[in-house]
Amino acid sequence: MTVLEDLPIRDELRGQSPYGAPQLDVPVRLNTNENPYPLPEELVARIAERVAEAARGLNRYPDRDAVELRTRLAAYLTRTCGYAVNADGVWAANGSNEVLQQLLQAFGGPGRTALGFDPSYSMHALIARGTGTDWVSGSRREDFTVDVDAARREIARHRPHVVFVCSPNNPTGTAVEADTVVAVYDAAQRAARGKGALVVVDEAYGEFSHHPSLLPLLRDRPNLVLSRTMSKAFGAAGLRLGYLAADPAVVDAVQLVRLPYHLSAVTQATALAALEHTDTLLGYVERLKSERDRLVTELRAAGCEVTASDANFVQFGRFDGEGGAHAVWQALLEHGVLVRDNGVPGRLRVTAGTPEENDAFLDAVRAVMKENE
Ligand code: PMP
Repeated sequence: MTVLEDLPIRDELRGQSPYGAPQLDVPVRLNTNENPYPLPEELVARIAERVAEAARGLNRYPDRDAVELRTRLAAYLTRTCGYAVNADGVWAANGSNEVLQQLLQAFGGPGRTALGFDPSYSMHALIARGTGTDWVSGSRREDFTVDVDAARREIARHRPHVVFVCSPNNPTGTAVEADTVVAVYDAAQRAARGKGALVVVDEAYGEFSHHPSLLPLLRDRPNLVLSRTMSKAFGAAGLRLGYLAADPAVVDAVQLVRLPYHLSAVTQATALAALEHTDTLLGYVERLKSERDRLVTELRAAGCEVTASDANFVQFGRFDGEGGAHAVWQALLEHGVLVRDNGVPGRLRVTAGTPEENDAFLDAVRAVMKENE
């Protein structure tokens, strides 16, 4: 039998594991930052209608440039983020993971370096590896905020071609101040060779933040990119639709690496239907934000150390006893609740679910804390 290690794969992939949270069949699943609310029935019906329309033309390739969708996404950003963008400054792909991959294909690659501030979204490093880009793990303060002075030093030392700033940050929930992004951007341009460095703000959880979007920072910063997704706020993780906003020149750059017709007609039709129901979906976001705030308050009341959160999840701990955070992860699982162990020492991450799911989670935490007394 042939195993992976027998294959002539690239050396840097040898011994690596694929990304993936466990997909376990558990009553309360709060481990992948999904939106717990299924799409409303009116939207399901509208998707069926728009997809049927698209199906009539499936003998043809889809609109390669997804112009209608990019126009609608631009209108959504303009309306909700306080800064006007046009379709030529917006690009869409199959999930923001694909957006990030296209950015690294165009701006990273062999002989180039990307830097992020860890702990952060582990796919940034994995996509870097997959595109042959060297990865540098920058630091955060003890409280998981980005330390501007340390960031400036790390950027000056490594002179990265791409810098990732995740805000709100996964897995910690930490928002990054606009001033910090500006400082990182300026430092990256100063340190860079040639034409500067790309700074990617990953705002996958932007809609859940207490702070406004960082989109207005795009003004006069042609090397800044804001990445977003319909997986979280739009409750459409299964749709696979991510997008970016940037200077139109950045959109021209990703077109050099995107596969032709990468966004299927079915995907485009579904995303357009979901955008028609933006206000209803943003109503669920408001509910989730207040549930997130409740989780923070109640976890603190239960004696946990909780990181302030601007996302639809909460990092909590500290579990420094025997077995560390993983033992608590296991104990919660035994109570029927699946959370995430992201490998941050002493900490776990829980996604805000429905009020009932959050109650079940909080009961399980209290029970486990009692067992551990
Ligand atoms: N960025 C961050 C910070 C994320 O947490 C995720 C999903 N977990 C993504 C990007 C990718 O999401 P998607 O590909 O579903 O848009």
